[in-house]
Amino acid sequence: MSNLQSILAANLASVRDRIAAAAERSNRDPDDIVLVAVTKYAELDWVRGLIDLGVTQLGESRPQQLVSRSELFSEPVTWHLIGHLQRNKVRPVLPVAALIHSVDSFRLLDRIESIAEELGVSPRVLLEVNVTGEESKNGFAPPELLQQAERLSGYRHLIVDGLMTMAPRVDDPEQARPAFVALRELRETLAAVTGDNVPLGELSMGMSGDFDVAIEEGATLVRIGSRLFDGLSDDGART
Ligand SMILES: *Cc1c(COP(=O)(O)O)cnc(C)c1O
Repeated sequence: MSNLQSILAANLASVRDRIAAAAERSNRDPDDIVLVAVTKYAELDWVRGLIDLGVTQLGESRPQQLVSRSELFSEPVTWHLIGHLQRNKVRPVLPVAALIHSVDSFRLLDRIESIAEELGVSPRVLLEVNVTGEESKNGFAPPELLQQAERLSGYRHLIVDGLMTMAPRVDDPEQARPAFVALRELRETLAAVTGDNVPLGELSMGMSGDFDVAIEEGATLVRIGSRLFDGLSDDGART
C-alpha cells in the first residue's frame, strides 16, 4: 500500500471508530449515520484513494467543482452539495447532486422546484439553518422557517428531507452541543406542522471538530473533511 493509501486508511479507520463509539454511547446503530467525506480541499489522488478504500459519499462545497468532479468520478460515488448554491447554478447541479445540504432561502427552494419540474426529477434537499444567529452565516433563521412552515408542504417535486447546520467554531466540542440540540428540536417542531410530503428525517450536523457530539445529538449525516486528510498536506507524504 502506498504511503498515501496507508495514511488515508488510518484516518478513515479512526473516523469510523469514533462514529461507532459515539453511536454506541447514544444507543444508536452506527449504520444509521452516513459519513460524507468532504473533498473540497482534497487533491484528485486523495479523492481516488478514498474511493478505493470504499468511501462512496462525497461532499463538495462549490457547485462548479461538484459538477466537474462528478464527471471524473462517476460510479460508485454519491455526490452531496454542502456549500452555498446560487440560483443560477441550480440547473447544472440538480442532475448530479443526490442531496443538497445547503438550501438557505425560499427563493432558492422555489427555483429548485421549478427546475425540478422542468427536468422531471425529484431532488432531495436539506434546509440550512443558522441556529446560533451568527451574522456571518448563511441559513434560515428559525423563526422565519416556523412562520412560513406551511410553504414547505406545497412543494410537489423537491423533497425536504431534513435540516443542516454548522455549529460555531469552538475549542471544546461540548460548546457546539446546544446548536445540535437546537437543530434537532427545530426538526421536531417543524415536523409537527408540515405535511406527510415533508419527510424531515435527516439531520446533517457535525464536522471534523465536533462530529462525536453531533452524533450523540442525533446527526444522521456527518460532513468530515480535514480529519480524513491529516498528514497529507506536505508533498513528502504523497509518494
Ligand atoms: C468544509 C466543510 C465541512 C468539513 O469541515 P472539516 O472541518 O474540514 O471537517 C463540513 N461542512 C461544510 C458546510 C463545509 O463547508
